[in-house]
Amino acid sequence: MEIFKGQNLIEFTERFKTGQDCREYLSKIKWSEQYVCRKCKHTKSQIRKDFARTCNICSDAESATANTLFHKVKFGLKKAFFICFEMATTTKSLSASQTAVCFGVQEKTARMFMQKVSETMKSSEDFPMKGIVNVDEYVGGGYQEGKPGRSYSSSKKKAVCALELTDKGKVKRFLHLSNSRLFSEIIAKNV
Ligand SMILES: [Zn+2]
Repeated sequence: MEIFKGQNLIEFTERFKTGQDCREYLSKIKWSEQYVCRKCKHTKSQIRKDFARTCNICSDAESATANTLFHKVKFGLKKAFFICFEMATTTKSLSASQTAVCFGVQEKTARMFMQKVSETMKSSEDFPMKGIVNVDEYVGGGYQEGKPGRSYSSSKKKAVCALELTDKGKVKRFLHLSNSRLFSEIIAKNV
């Protein structure tokens, strides 16, 4: 599974040319460990053309977008991916009206989707880390203090670092979350 590591819009548009590209990527992230049927828990399935999976035992069909941020998204997966990428990489706040114009979607729809993405970004801080974890954000190479959590409306850069500490306060693990990693985290989140 090739995790998207691009940092800019050019790389992004090369990688995600169509809604089908997005669906394939989403399905690979969604079932990266193993497919498990949500009805009967069987683990063998058929992959359909739209990257949905059909259980070999009970025939339950699950789309790539089911239980994700993109479930029943009204304006298509490609635009939704773009909005996520913009939100994960921009250093400025992005308004719903601006996004609506940029992507040719209704402002209300844009606002609702952006709120969902924003919530997902906030909750993406539960890294698979144990023990004491310090999370911080970079601003132009330095640290910004006093603002826990990731506030989407702020002008902070979204590059995040996390330190995992031992009981004695020594550094055990350091993790740097790049913009594209944040993007992939948002995409992978169950909602
Ligand atoms: Zn099943």
